[in-house]
Amino acid sequence: MLHGDNPGDRARYRRAPLLPTEDDTTAAPPWSETAAVPIVHGLTPAELSRHLDGPGRARQVFRALSSGADPFQPAVIPDGLRARLTTVARPQPLEIRARTVASDGTTKLALSFEDGAALECVLIPALRGDRDLDPTRVTLCVSSQVGCARGCRFCVTATMGLVRNLTVSEIVAQVHVGLAEARRRGWRLRNLVFMGMGEPLDNAVNVRRALEILTDHRGFGFAPKHITLSTVGPRLGAVHRLAGWPARIAWSLHAALPRIRARLVPAPHPDVAALAGAFADVCAAERRPLFVEMTLMDGVNDRDEDMAAAAALFDSFPTEVRFNLIAMNPGRADLRPSPRVARCQDLLQAAGFFCSVRPPRGQDADAACGQLVDRLSRIATATPPADSAPRE
Ligand code: SF4
Repeated sequence: MLHGDNPGDRARYRRAPLLPTEDDTTAAPPWSETAAVPIVHGLTPAELSRHLDGPGRARQVFRALSSGADPFQPAVIPDGLRARLTTVARPQPLEIRARTVASDGTTKLALSFEDGAALECVLIPALRGDRDLDPTRVTLCVSSQVGCARGCRFCVTATMGLVRNLTVSEIVAQVHVGLAEARRRGWRLRNLVFMGMGEPLDNAVNVRRALEILTDHRGFGFAPKHITLSTVGPRLGAVHRLAGWPARIAWSLHAALPRIRARLVPAPHPDVAALAGAFADVCAAERRPLFVEMTLMDGVNDRDEDMAAAAALFDSFPTEVRFNLIAMNPGRADLRPSPRVARCQDLLQAAGFFCSVRPPRGQDADAACGQLVDRLSRIATATPPADSAPRE
């Protein structure tokens, strides 16, 4: 029997007001693009509708964006509407600097922005059987920051440090780029996972607003159940404020034993049980499942006692808990991938949990989990700013 009582597909997602919170790292409304003409990717459908004097016009623009087309180009939307659009909004300035395709079809895109900051996002087509791509089930791994301040030991992104937060429009524009790439290849982009560069809750206000735009049925129209937000749980308050977010929640736990987790995930809140309690509060209030991710490293967090601790941590969790095990991808020389993934899966399943294993994808393009690091940013920003607060 599985723990919990609420299968993922029946989870309900409630909308809550968009309010900045005291432990969000951004001050003042971070989504207000400061230039006189706002960036279209940072506008909600309601806001664009006001700019264009009508929801029908805004809908035509969002229909183009959500199909991966560029409404600022000729023949995408009617000429009159395009002329009007260019007076009220502008496209997100970004450049695709590189495209790397792995042997399994996983595609890594290196993007750069006006200030030289750059990031990588990854398109991952599902596999039918061992090798055939399923073009109807493609996932985009989205970044929320350039670099990351969390310093997880197994993650190459951590070696960059935090360069800066992404703005709302930069997050949404990544998805637009992913939609355009999918369209070019005849793929259908169905799922978004916030598992790229950065810790989403360290850029909570911007990520939350981007989610609103991406899930608005008049906007990009992604179903919340097709979006997963992965967090290490940097602060108890930040976890509690996940209530109402239109996405599935995944906790990057990696180790349930506090002394091991403190080594792997040097987050400021070290109390694993307290964090589990915070996730339990959020999941119980909305009867939604919790996804738990564990990147397994040889001899570090893949022992029988590590799995026993993980099972004990969620023994009385109020809703369904689904483990997702990942064999660490190459990247950090001092750590090796676990050879015991199947054994760990058996142990968690025997303890009554649903437990899947995420197969490695995109390794030969350095596009797998924990392998995203932007060489362009590292060159452009040899020393990350001491003040790691977001810049807009
Ligand atoms: S695993 Fe995620 S939270 Fe940890 S350093 Fe890497 S990007 Fe940041």
